[in-house]
Amino acid sequence: MSRLIWFKGDIIPVDNATVNVLSPTSQFGANVFEGLRGYWNSGTKQLYIFRLDEHIDRLKKSAKMMQFDTHYSDYDLKKSVIDIVKANAFKEDIVIRQTIFLDGFGNWASKGPTEMFIAPMAKGRAIPPNKNGFHCSISSWERINDNSISPRVKVGANYINSRMGQLDAINNGFDSTIFLNSRGTVSEGPGSCVFIVRDNQLITPPLTASVLESITRFTIMQIAKEVLAIDVIEREVDRTELYIADEVFFCGSAVEIIPVLSVDRYAISENIGSITQLIKSAYLEIVRGNNKKFAHWLTKVY
Ligand code: PMP
Repeated sequence: MSRLIWFKGDIIPVDNATVNVLSPTSQFGANVFEGLRGYWNSGTKQLYIFRLDEHIDRLKKSAKMMQFDTHYSDYDLKKSVIDIVKANAFKEDIVIRQTIFLDGFGNWASKGPTEMFIAPMAKGRAIPPNKNGFHCSISSWERINDNSISPRVKVGANYINSRMGQLDAINNGFDSTIFLNSRGTVSEGPGSCVFIVRDNQLITPPLTASVLESITRFTIMQIAKEVLAIDVIEREVDRTELYIADEVFFCGSAVEIIPVLSVDRYAISENIGSITQLIKSAYLEIVRGNNKKFAHWLTKVY
């Protein structure tokens, strides 16, 4: 069966979902999107979409900041995600891209017409099985900031900053990179937020450190407090704190939790750290529907 996509209100084969090259989404990256995950539980024979309400809330906020004219209700935004996953009959872990884009023949300042696509894809763990984690650089590229292009908006064009950092890291023999913000403190990865562990405390940069308001970041903060009784502190993080941290990890819907093994070749750990492991295990239990306490974070597809 060819993969199906939700496109402008219809469910169609993915190859038939095309946009005009002159549309502002095509020319300027004028689109807002979410990357969600769905987890197949072979015991309950159910596929759970993780924190769908929170992703839809953030999608709407991104559309608002971009002044997109959108006409979708919460019900439509949610139902269309479930419909397209169902139509593909997935019985495995998936990622879902939900994008509202500027269509038509306007320019970068147009507010409409907007359209939407939703594309689910089969996807297991983001990190290859032969890797324990990532070796990272500190990017020589500064993270975009709220006075230029806000990282709080999940807009396609923002990922050109991510691209520059990621490619620079790869070209220099790293797996990924960590950006500093315009104040010179730690912001985030190209597609993930950053946590560090120092003296058994979990620390992450604040929402004003040029970061996306990551749903996984909020999730981990809650898991740490409520499941693991670990203190979480939101505060500015200096570059050299990464070098001497006990543990560092990336988090995000797609990447889940990925240990950072070194930063700028300063070794942090050879394998996943013990607190990172606790968080990762708790997270993966919750997303797959194996922790009843957090069942309200899951939307059943079938
Ligand atoms: N920062 C950036 C730049 C991202 O692209 C992502 C992935 N969406 C994240 C952080 C993590 O966000 P979330 O936990 O909501 O997936």
